[in-house]
Amino acid sequence: MASAKNGRSYEAFLVDVDGVLTRGSQPLPGAVEGLQALQARGRAVLLTNNSTRSRSELSAHLTSLGFRISAADIFATSYLAARYLRDVSGAARVWVLGEEGLRTELVAAGHCLAERPVDADWVVVGMDRRFEYAKLSQALQALLAGARLLVTNEDATFPTTDGLVPGAGAIVGALRGMGYEPDAVIGKPSPLAFAIALEELGTPKERVLVIGDRLETDIVGGCAAGMDTALVLSGVSREPDLAGSTVRPTWVADDLAAVALGAWRVAGVG
Ligand SMILES: [Mg+2]
Repeated sequence: MASAKNGRSYEAFLVDVDGVLTRGSQPLPGAVEGLQALQARGRAVLLTNNSTRSRSELSAHLTSLGFRISAADIFATSYLAARYLRDVSGAARVWVLGEEGLRTELVAAGHCLAERPVDADWVVVGMDRRFEYAKLSQALQALLAGARLLVTNEDATFPTTDGLVPGAGAIVGALRGMGYEPDAVIGKPSPLAFAIALEELGTPKERVLVIGDRLETDIVGGCAAGMDTALVLSGVSREPDLAGSTVRPTWVADDLAAVALGAWRVAGVG
């Protein structure tokens, strides 16, 4: 097994969701068993830029697809943003430009939803599939009144079964268009996502393996955070992307099932 090859055994796994466990609303072949095999070996936690669902919603969704994963083992940016805000500001008054799952996690972490934009300490932004001009205008009122800007993730697009749709990054782009830069961005490749995940895991980073399908988020972020990384080719990044990139994951594997088996190779070696 490859983990024995380099003398390293991992105790925890930070596993991406889209392109690793699922594609659209379907489980990827072997992913259910692959996740189970990792869970038998250590703690497997999902680290996802998803900001639209709460942890319990994500757990219910993945359970309906056959995965066994509890809400406590899901670090979505809805949750991570709420945690980050509690760490830096204590309980805050927030104005949410995002969906219900983000509100749920913010309230669960002790923050309160401001009644008017001008009352907010922070504007918290996630993907919002009902985004419209009035919401942009409300966020502007909060920012003009001095609110700071917390962004769950800057993913430009989001893959669905019908193809790509605009992601949270598109909404952040609208805010940038008005002259506002985020005070903090949580989601991968931001170091914040990995730092909060590591703190919650309590596992030394040398014993943690980051598993993801995107070179520019999962792998760049995991490498920068000092962890080993495994790129799976079942999602966005493909062999030619790897060849044309300076980003080097520790391992490359076809999919999560292959990672669980140690059927991987060292990146850059054919
Ligand atoms: Mg992914």
